[in-house]
Amino acid sequence: MRKGTVVENLNAVRARIVACCRACGRDPATVALLAVSKTRPAEDLRAAYEAGQRDFGENYLQEALDKQGELADLADGGLCWHFIGPLQSNKTRAAAEAFHWVHSVDRLKIAQRLSVQRPTQMPPLNICLQVNIDGEASKSGAAPEEVAGLAAAVAQLPNLKLRGLMAIPAAREGAAEQRKPFARLAELLQQLQVQLPDQPLDTLSMGMSGDMEAAIECGATMVRIGTDIFGARQ
Ligand SMILES: *Cc1c(COP(=O)(O)O)cnc(C)c1O
Repeated sequence: MRKGTVVENLNAVRARIVACCRACGRDPATVALLAVSKTRPAEDLRAAYEAGQRDFGENYLQEALDKQGELADLADGGLCWHFIGPLQSNKTRAAAEAFHWVHSVDRLKIAQRLSVQRPTQMPPLNICLQVNIDGEASKSGAAPEEVAGLAAAVAQLPNLKLRGLMAIPAAREGAAEQRKPFARLAELLQQLQVQLPDQPLDTLSMGMSGDMEAAIECGATMVRIGTDIFGARQ
């Protein structure tokens, strides 16, 4: 996509975040914007970076590693890589070595591997547990009733930092309907904060291009926006 367009789109999303926060009485600084750059060429990420964007979300490991190589000159400039796609156990090593965050941990085995494989000279890997908030058969994520047990186990792993919860709700029409699963995820995070007071549980990773405002209204601290920044995917 044309560089100017990426920057215009990015600024429009930033303005929407500010407007939404104003309307619901939140400080815009408490909502981080994750630019979801799956399927996008490195030049699009570079355009966003030049406009101040630092957090990028990727779904496919090899694609992400390729782009990280192309953007290696920016590595010291505060680029922060978030893995947000389904993670198979044979891919955990690359995720543990090349990312700052993994949002899609939904079972203990994956978390254990990430902890063992996280290089010890790197800071702990930031983790969100993915919750299948609508119980959809087609979606990954832990069931809501599994979250407490999974979180307690993940909190014990030395090279991980349990930051919060992530969800991708089923598509819904209208803000009131969209808010329901987000409110449930926020409630689950509050329960975890009580259950595990020593953990840095400060992250609700929720809200995409079509439901960002509803997520912010329900307490999202990180919104994951692809289409509205980089355009429609093929
Ligand atoms: C693709 C993707 C997004 C971004 O979705 P858009 O609708 O393009 O904003 C967010 N989160 C996850 C996990 C994704 O896979």
